[in-house]
Amino acid sequence: MIIGIDLDDVLADFISEFTALAYKRFGRPEPGTLPVDWEWSNFGLSKDEQSAVWGDIKSDPYFWQMLSVEEGVSARLLAELEQKHTVYYPTARVDANLGASAAKQSAYWLRKKFGIQFPAVFATYDKKPMALALKYDYFIDDRPKNCLDIQSALPNCKVYLKDSSHNAAFDAEANGLTRVRDFDEFAKIILEGK
Ligand SMILES: [Mg+2]
Repeated sequence: MIIGIDLDDVLADFISEFTALAYKRFGRPEPGTLPVDWEWSNFGLSKDEQSAVWGDIKSDPYFWQMLSVEEGVSARLLAELEQKHTVYYPTARVDANLGASAAKQSAYWLRKKFGIQFPAVFATYDKKPMALALKYDYFIDDRPKNCLDIQSALPNCKVYLKDSSHNAAFDAEANGLTRVRDFDEFAKIILEGK
């Protein structure tokens, strides 16, 4: 099987780190705040303020390699997927202004956190062309738009939406997607052949 796994909010906890940076710079939102939508409209940050936080991310040459692992991700299950299948990690992460590329930092992170020796990471904002080329059988992402893009590109691919505060209002099933609580639930579906 060929499997596509998104990184942020699926394997890595990006939200906590973004929130911490915003709090450090602007004193809001309170630590632990979770975004209610993809625009993070409940964070009380203007577009310019959000851009400033992104500026902080881009000026940190190690940002993508020091994130925490998301809840519900077992190293054992990811290792087993890697062992038995072909796994790709498409991510919309952006490069920092200095230091290693987002893709290289992500590969380093996957090796360090999960012991995967040669993780196949691709950094690209638009995930659809890559899906057409790589032909996933299974795909998981927390962003509904990405899931729908992959579903339309690859009608036979089983597409999973990972639960997140920002996608809670999205009706996955009505859109032909399957909602899973976390990565482990997704991995078990594949490994147990459900
Ligand atoms: Mg994501």
